[in-house]
Order: sequence, then structure tokens, then C-alpha cells
Amino acid sequence: MTTYPIQEHPCTVLTNEMVAPQYRHLMLRAPGAALLAQPGQFFNLLCPPDDHTQPFFRRPMSLYRLEREKQRLHFLYKVVGRGTRALARMRPGDELNVLGPLGQGFSLHPNWKTLLLAARGVGVATLAPLAEAARDQGRQVIALCSARTRATLLAVDYLHALGAVVHTVTDDDGSASMPAVEAFLQGVIVEEKVDALFTCGSKRLLRLMQKLGRDYDLPGQAALEQQMACGFGVCHGCVRPFLRHGRVVDLRVCVEGPVFDLQEVMTL
Ligand SMILES: Cc1cc2nc3c(=O)[nH]c(=O)nc-3n(C[C@H](O)[C@H](O)[C@H](O)COP(=O)(O)OP(=O)(O)OC[C@H]3O[C@@H](n4cnc5c(N)ncnc54)[C@H](O)[C@@H]3O)c2cc1C
Repeated sequence: MTTYPIQEHPCTVLTNEMVAPQYRHLMLRAPGAALLAQPGQFFNLLCPPDDHTQPFFRRPMSLYRLEREKQRLHFLYKVVGRGTRALARMRPGDELNVLGPLGQGFSLHPNWKTLLLAARGVGVATLAPLAEAARDQGRQVIALCSARTRATLLAVDYLHALGAVVHTVTDDDGSASMPAVEAFLQGVIVEEKVDALFTCGSKRLLRLMQKLGRDYDLPGQAALEQQMACGFGVCHGCVRPFLRHGRVVDLRVCVEGPVFDLQEVMTL
């Protein structure tokens, strides 16, 4: 397990733009230590005061993109509640305190040449840096982006720009139904000789990827989005059961995860 010093970083908002209804792309100027983050890791963001009170807990957000030479740290987020609503009001020049990088990211076996990524909604934020790392290492990426509507498909152009082959499915035209997605992914796995599976953003997609992993004897990893408080292991608020070495064990999503072996995750 990789450990990092737990550090707070004062960052400056560069942009915080709406990219789809309810979704924003936040770009920060960040100090060097924050830029050591690896794909799959996350930061715990101290969201600003909302209605005169500070959200008590920080809010966890996955690393979406890093530009080390420009000292830029990117997040892609959905506005859902008090913390993210306050985040959405941040303007260029505002200060945002982030804690991290936190958790265990993805690990890529040298033999995995072709990776299949399946993301639902903003889960693509967590998988995008994996696509970037795969490109840098000369691996092929096939990405499936699933969303409720065309308008809420995220990061498709960015994944294209990273060299991934991108397929999109949505609920509004029925293409995101589980039988349709299963048939589609079965074809991709066989035709493209996929070596490993990765997923984030949906329990149903996770279960499907687990089934495909078993059916085709493929390894994989899943990034979990579990409610959490401290983000670095002391509060145990994010503990959940996993199936590890044939036994059910309780693990902290923030420290032992958020990326886990695909078949270890128990979907309750
Ligand atoms: C590792 C990780 C990565 C994530 N990455 C992204 C991302 O890249 N983009 C994105 O859009 N979302 C991401 N999320 C989800 C995101 O953290 C939540 O959507 C966000 O915290 C919602 O905050 P809110 O105040 O707007 O919503 P609210 O629902 O109002 O508040 C949620 C917050 O309430 C607190 N809380 C409520 N119940 C509990 C409980 N039972 N135990 C502990 N705390 C509780 C927590 O602080 C929690 O974060 C990620 C989550 C995790 C765990």
C-alpha cells in the first residue's frame, strides 16, 4: 500500500465552469506536493461557507487531470448538495484548501495492453487520468461513457484527445440499458482482446463488469464513491465489507481504496 504525507494545500481557483447541466470543471493553481497525485487518488476539499456556515466535513473529489508543468489540478464534479453548491459559486482568484492526495489509485500490470474503461456519469472524472496514464505508457484504451442524457455525457472530447476509443450510451435512447451494454461490452472484449476492466460511477455497471470479469477471466479494478468524512483513515466512517482472499473483511474506502480489485467489491 502506497502511503503519502497527509498535507493541506492552499490552492487558487483558475476557472470553475459549467460543462453540462449540474456539472462543473474546476481548475486550480496548486503547489508541487499536490501535483504528486496518481490516477484514482482523491483530494478532500474544504468547501467554502454556504449560507454563512462552513460545511463541517470536507468533500472528497477524484483527481480528474494534472498539468504538473503549469501547476494545475483539475476536478470534474456534480452539484448535488450543500458542499458542491458552495463549490459551484467559487470564482477565479478565490482560495480553496485541499487535503491530499489521498487513497490508493489504480495499478497497471505491465502485460495489460488493452484496457476497457466503463464510467457512469461523473465517474468518468476518476477514470480520465487512468486513460492519460495508459496513453503515456503506450496502452490502448476503450472507454464506455454512460449517462442519463446526451447533454450529461462528460469528458468525451477529452478522452478522444487522449487517444481513447470512446463509445457513449444514454438512458434516453435506451442504449444504456444493462442488456444492451452487456452485449456491447461482450463484443468489445472479444474483438479488441481486452486485458483488464476498470469502472466507476454506478453499482449496476460495477456488477456487470464483475460478471464480465468472471465470464472472460479478466482482472479489473473499481473506484468507489463512498460517503466519507476525514478521508485519511481515522474516523472509520467509510468502512464497508469486501471479499478478500475468500473472507469478508471490513476496509476503509479512503485508505485501502478508493480503488479496489473488481471482484473484491461487495455490492450490498
Ligand atoms: C473517493 C471519492 C471520489 C469522488 N470523486 C468525485 C468526483 O470526481 N466528482 C463528483 O462529482 N463527485 C465525486 N465524489 C462524490 C462527492 O464527494 C459527493 O458528491 C459530495 O461529497 C457531495 O457533497 P455535497 O455537500 O454537495 O452533498 P451532500 O449530500 O449534501 O453531502 C454529502 C456529505 O455529507 C456528509 N455525510 C452525509 N452522510 C454521511 C455519512 N453517513 N457518513 C459520513 N459523512 C456523511 C459527508 O461529508 C458527505 O461528503 C467522490 C466521492 C468519493 C468518496
